[in-house]
Amino acid sequence: MNNYKTYSIKEIFLTLQGEGHNAGKTAVFCRFSGCNLWNGNEKDRKNAVCSFCDTDFKGVNGINGGKYHLQPLVEKITSLWPKLKRNKFIVFTGGEPLLQLDNKLIKKVKDKGFKVAVETNGTLPVSKLIDWVCVSPKIESKLVVTKGDEIKVVYPQDGINLSVFEKYNFEHFYLQPLDNKNFILNNKKTIEYILKNPKWKLSVQTHKYLKIK
Ligand code: SF4
Repeated sequence: MNNYKTYSIKEIFLTLQGEGHNAGKTAVFCRFSGCNLWNGNEKDRKNAVCSFCDTDFKGVNGINGGKYHLQPLVEKITSLWPKLKRNKFIVFTGGEPLLQLDNKLIKKVKDKGFKVAVETNGTLPVSKLIDWVCVSPKIESKLVVTKGDEIKVVYPQDGINLSVFEKYNFEHFYLQPLDNKNFILNNKKTIEYILKNPKWKLSVQTHKYLKIK
């Protein structure tokens, strides 16, 4: 019955992962539409649980965006990988990908040889089938994913206590300077924190510097 499920996809494209532990790695990015922490409307941003989003995840009008059934979605993803079939890597992102990503889709892309990564805000349970879990927590939300491969905290966030996150079970701990009008100051604060707390590493949004999508 679930074969008739449709996935709302903002965009799908081949790129380099821009940030975090896998920065520089070739990846298919599959961006789901929608998020549970903001509706994507600018007028509602200031009252949203997450108010610093830098991603357009509304609608299905991006490159290769649309409403997909399972098989066409898997075929679209597979078609974007280069002819040389090695090192296939897909990042499911959003919006919040775990609103839609299910085991059927994960299994299908794994059957095609992809290693599967997810970038989540950590408010929804994550499938054990995912190979790389990157959690980016938002201070106003309740975190339910407290283990994974990578935690990537946008810094600073009002009222954030990073020592809380340090107790969680992640392989890599990243701080990423908040990209807003105070970016230079945010960079400085982030670097200062990391120099005093070397459990954390710096995540640079290289795609913004390199001007790649
Ligand atoms: S949780 Fe992520 S996708 Fe959702 S509004 Fe915040 S930054 Fe954007």
